[in-house]
Amino acid sequence: MDLSNYYNISAYASAFLVSMTCLFFTFIQQRTQKPNNKIYIILICLLATNSVTSILSEFFEAAASRSKVYFTLLEISQMAYFLVHSAICPLFLYYVRLVCGSKRITVRARAFLLLPFIASVIPLLVNPFFHGFFYFDENCVFHRGPFEALIYISAGFYLILSVVLLMFSWHALTRKRKTALIYFYVIAALGIFTQLIFMKIKAELFAEALALLGVLFAIENEDDRIDFDTGLYNRRALKSDINGYIVNKQQLYVICVRITNADIIRKAVGSENTDILSEVLSEYLKQIVPSYHIYNTNPGSFVLTLTDCTQEQARELCLQMKGRFDQVWTYGDSELPLNAIFMAAEVPERITSASDAFYMVDSPIPANNDKKILIGSDLDYLLRRSAVERAVTKGLKNNCFEVYYQPTYHLKGQKLHGAEALIRLHDKTIGNIFPDEFIPIAEQIGMIEQIDDFVLREVCKFIKSGLPQKFGMNSINVNLSVIECMQPGFVGHINRIVDEIGVDKHMINFEITESVAASDYKLLNSVVTALKADGFRFSMDDYGTGYSNMESIFSLDFDVVKIDKSILWSAENSELGQIILENSVRMIKQMKREILVEGVETSKQIEMLDKLAVDYLQGYFFSKPIPKEDFIKLLQDGDDKKEDKK
Ligand code: C2E
Ligand code: CA
Ligand code: CA
Repeated sequence: MDLSNYYNISAYASAFLVSMTCLFFTFIQQRTQKPNNKIYIILICLLATNSVTSILSEFFEAAASRSKVYFTLLEISQMAYFLVHSAICPLFLYYVRLVCGSKRITVRARAFLLLPFIASVIPLLVNPFFHGFFYFDENCVFHRGPFEALIYISAGFYLILSVVLLMFSWHALTRKRKTALIYFYVIAALGIFTQLIFMKIKAELFAEALALLGVLFAIENEDDRIDFDTGLYNRRALKSDINGYIVNKQQLYVICVRITNADIIRKAVGSENTDILSEVLSEYLKQIVPSYHIYNTNPGSFVLTLTDCTQEQARELCLQMKGRFDQVWTYGDSELPLNAIFMAAEVPERITSASDAFYMVDSPIPANNDKKILIGSDLDYLLRRSAVERAVTKGLKNNCFEVYYQPTYHLKGQKLHGAEALIRLHDKTIGNIFPDEFIPIAEQIGMIEQIDDFVLREVCKFIKSGLPQKFGMNSINVNLSVIECMQPGFVGHINRIVDEIGVDKHMINFEITESVAASDYKLLNSVVTALKADGFRFSMDDYGTGYSNMESIFSLDFDVVKIDKSILWSAENSELGQIILENSVRMIKQMKREILVEGVETSKQIEMLDKLAVDYLQGYFFSKPIPKEDFIKLLQDGDDKKEDKK
């Protein structure tokens, strides 16, 4: 062996070691299940085999001039090298297809795609007879034959095709994956061209092994997509995978399993065991679908993705899982009675974006739902939710929000007292949306602050016009979301808005619904106290709707307590309701708060409230919430009537 043999062997041995490292860590980290894992392993094995045949070729080459046997072995090992190497590029194309998640192609198209590979392999197989691919001269020096170009043309064909595929799926890939694939092309191309031009520099195999090492780090490694404890995919993975499916127009069913009593189970079993649901369920789900199709998005929520699946198959699977949930689950010695609801929605028919998929796992299940399996049109509420979310998001920019006013009156003499500002949303696509529907969504997506600021500004502008004062209004009520009140810097924020427009703070009465945990009283109390010190007034909204209102009436310094319409209405219909209303009124009076009753619709109700001597009334009997212009007209009409009476 001469020096050049040793140099070559060092290059091939390095390529072999890098390939072995890739293989080793692929198995250590158990990344062997997914189709792309399998192709990756084959690619690495091909490269390792290539390195071995190349090393052998060097030995055989050194001995070939001495013996005919070694000469034949040299030819065989060289042939094996080309044969194995020509399979790498078509396989890499397949790998890219799997990683990009591109659609499957027809059998005929697949056969067509194999043509360049076959065209390069046939001259290789007949090389021992015609030596058109390569040959060794009498000094055992390697020479390229004219047909060797075929292997480069074929490789180029597959690599270009894989780049095209990559371009088509560009938006479906994360940045990390794109970078890894580009790195692969650059490094592999460097090696290939170096060796093509300078035949003595054996850079190709080592470069390819390094390129595949990059792929191992950035594509095969999914640590950032997998939850460490459960081994299941996380939210981030679901988001990028759904995006990928959508970009590639891949049909699939997204099935969501939501444990509806997860909180109770967690409390029963103990909080240190918060992962029991994932532990118990992941084992079960892995029996039904391959683990790389299972996502654990929230505690107690699982998502399965089933490609090329019909609605019947999806329903069948839901039924199967429902059957399992009818039985008891066990965890250690404990029995877990799990309740679950199953949702199945089709991509792209019903799920058109990753956020649609997250609606399934995140949005509240409709209160009136009694089905265990929601599929097809059962999930229309999700579509509605996403439409409302879109309307809210673009509503402020497009001027779709409007503040309506509903007047309030003194019980005595039914004189005008003030008004409540109530927001409305007019959307071009889905029409008018009422706050009961969009306020909770705005709270969830973090838009409530901007909406409440908008209402406050509109109200300030109205007060600034002087009209409310002219018609004898005491104040205008503005609803505040409690979530917003808890934000740091809230007091300063409110003052800034009002000072900017420059209105009397006494004219603004904030309504808050007590719906916070007791632990936050202190904070809420400090906010209310500070704003009251600045001159604002406060009302407690929705008294009697089920929160622990007693404590907050005591601990928060409200000027007015608004008794919820449901209390008034049940007082009309039942004796128990009557008792609740009477006692509420008595109690609030003893606490020295003023009382407003909402939802007054009939004169009979007014008679009843007259006896109880509450302070203020609000309801459809007087007026529904109406746009500002109509409200001003209503005030003017009221004034005209007063004039007439005089
Ligand atoms: P709320 O504060 O309890 O407002 C009173 C609701 O009762 C209003 O519904 C009003 O239209 C309705 N109402 C008033 N009188 C009657 C009546 O005699 N009969 C019947 N059937 N209903 C009556 P609306 O406008 O749909 O508002 C619903 C809820 O949305 C409000 O309940 C409030 O919690 C919230 N909201 C409205 N505007 C805002 C806002 O600007 N910011 C915030 N954070 N929440 C708002
Ligand atoms: Ca209110
Ligand atoms: Ca209310």
